[in-house]
Amino acid sequence: MADVGLPVDEVYEPPARVREGALVADMETYREMYRRSVEDRDAFWREMAERFLTFSKPFDRVVEEDLYTGKIAWFIGGKLNASVQCLDRHLAARGDKTAILWEGDEPGTNRRVTYRELSEMVNRLANALRRRGVRKGDRVAIYMGMVPELAAAMLACARIGAIHSVIFGGFSPRSIRDRIDDSTCKAVITQDEGRRGGRAVPLKANVDEALAEPGHSVEFCIVYRHTGTPVNMVAGRDEWWHDAVANEPAECPPEQMDSEDPLFILYTSGSTGKPKGVLHTHAGYLLHVMCSHKYVFDIREDDIYCCAADVGWITGHSYIVYGPLGNGSTTVMFESIPTYPDAGRYWDMVDRLGITVFYTAPTAIRAIAREGNEHVTKYRRTSLRVLGTVGEPINPEAWRWYFNVVGEGRCSIVDTYWQTETGGHMISGLAGATPMKPGSGSLPFFGVQPCVVDEEGRELEGNGVTGRLCMKASWPGMMRTVYGDHDRFVQTYLTTYPGKYFTGDGCHRDKDGYYWITGRVDDVLNVSGHRLGTAEIEGALVGHPAVAEAAVVGYPHDIKGTGIYAYVMLKAGYTASDELAKELRDAVRREISAIATPDRIQFVEGLPKTRSGKIMRRILRKIAEGEPENVGDVTTLADPAVVRDIIEGVGRAR
Ligand code: ATP
Ligand code: MG
Repeated sequence: MADVGLPVDEVYEPPARVREGALVADMETYREMYRRSVEDRDAFWREMAERFLTFSKPFDRVVEEDLYTGKIAWFIGGKLNASVQCLDRHLAARGDKTAILWEGDEPGTNRRVTYRELSEMVNRLANALRRRGVRKGDRVAIYMGMVPELAAAMLACARIGAIHSVIFGGFSPRSIRDRIDDSTCKAVITQDEGRRGGRAVPLKANVDEALAEPGHSVEFCIVYRHTGTPVNMVAGRDEWWHDAVANEPAECPPEQMDSEDPLFILYTSGSTGKPKGVLHTHAGYLLHVMCSHKYVFDIREDDIYCCAADVGWITGHSYIVYGPLGNGSTTVMFESIPTYPDAGRYWDMVDRLGITVFYTAPTAIRAIAREGNEHVTKYRRTSLRVLGTVGEPINPEAWRWYFNVVGEGRCSIVDTYWQTETGGHMISGLAGATPMKPGSGSLPFFGVQPCVVDEEGRELEGNGVTGRLCMKASWPGMMRTVYGDHDRFVQTYLTTYPGKYFTGDGCHRDKDGYYWITGRVDDVLNVSGHRLGTAEIEGALVGHPAVAEAAVVGYPHDIKGTGIYAYVMLKAGYTASDELAKELRDAVRREISAIATPDRIQFVEGLPKTRSGKIMRRILRKIAEGEPENVGDVTTLADPAVVRDIIEGVGRAR
């Protein structure tokens, strides 16, 4: 990758059984559609909008954009409501079809919620919210576990025009409060407790703690009873969901929303700084996620589609809730974790539920791969047709494992590159058409116009170039602003390279025009004048059979300017030793170059990760810099305890 090393030179064609009957089954079709989507953008998106959405008042113009001031609007003048798109219009033909197929924390605990049942749930709750004074434009926080009611709560907000702000169920009271305050939420929808990997998650208790200090904007809480564990209910503020909806009619007239009215706020995972309240809209966002869900995964009417992410991050919003429900698909909602009760959980679930399309993250793939193939091979997995990955660059070794061991060469893999800010997929193959290269997101999705620029913002033309990834024009699902701080939106994304949206990621476009994400540009190290991407050093470390995960950061070094500090987590059955540290240094030297050799290697039991499974490098950087007291906010971590362990282990770095 990047300026040192080369992309993996392997190409895999989509298997014939995936191509057969695919919506886009060859590259000529993709290229022609892509060409139109860029050269004849208005006509292309008009056609897509008419095919995928049902407007109650048609839009007048397709797009107006100004990438300098960040004024972006799509399907101007149109009226619609996202909840109607996801529910009402499916009732006639798909009323009895399973909308949400829930797999609870314990294997085999399932619930099937049909489109009709989901619609009733949403309408009743929407009425209850309206009755309690929630109006169009009001913000509602949702802090729940992975239960169908979470999707219902989001759609109920959408129905009455309220803006939902889903807060990941793993977040601390402090993080909940910060987010509630940032967007002054009027209500909170929560549940008694969540379940994850056999453990209880005290959702209601966390909300209580978040609201303990006065001075917040919350007027009432609605509490869904899931586990039945007794919880504290504050009189005059808290009410059970089942009581609140008991006398509400199963029909709630939807608010007529403008295409550009906000649908939700979602805070980014915060791996690079203070989370930003990313705002998305009713029409453009919905169209982008439906369209990409359909084409990228090649969704068919009888698919059992499963995205194993959490609804608390954008992948869950776009590809568990809005995309699949907009398309009338059956979407699996998974309450548990990939290693509960053991590393075979995903494939056990795939067999029992007949899952055809499965979407997860490299971190999960690596976590289960290191437990051994027997957890996979003991299940049949014959229903699978498409596998997806998202969240970070996938190292080729993990990709091959996913393709060969999980998919047995019979499934396509789509590596989907995108961001909270982009709403939906930006760079990804189409399951039925695109030849795959392990570790590359491959080619732009329809309407997406990526470009690679150098540090001064000059566009690098042609193939075989390395630089920074920008977008030359807006796309329907693009974020519209940072909630309450439009200036931050412009500053963060639109001013680095004026006239372009800057992703913050480095990338290489190879000889075939395929994009390879080399990591965030903030993560590029300048070692003795050489620029090294942390992602590729990590890739070299993870390529060693003993290594499960690795994170590399820089720290001040007297001679080199920046020294390389590697945190390494070993696979089960391996132990830390000087010998192993030497082998790892040799591996990096061989794979990349001597310059990239880590100065210090610390073996760790775990790495600090965000809710979406991303390594929080800013924390590791502070520790490597010898300032553990300045690690900052660790409350959004999946497991804050790992930070203490790492700090304690610094002295044992080799
Ligand atoms: P913050 O912006 O607060 O730091 P974040 O960037 O971690 O948080 P997300 O929007 O969830 O929050 O992550 C988007 C980033 O994840 C991308 O910018 C990119 O670095 C990485 N990413 C996502 N998918 C892929 C992929 N398929 N290949 C490579 N990188 C990916
Ligand atoms: Mg980001």
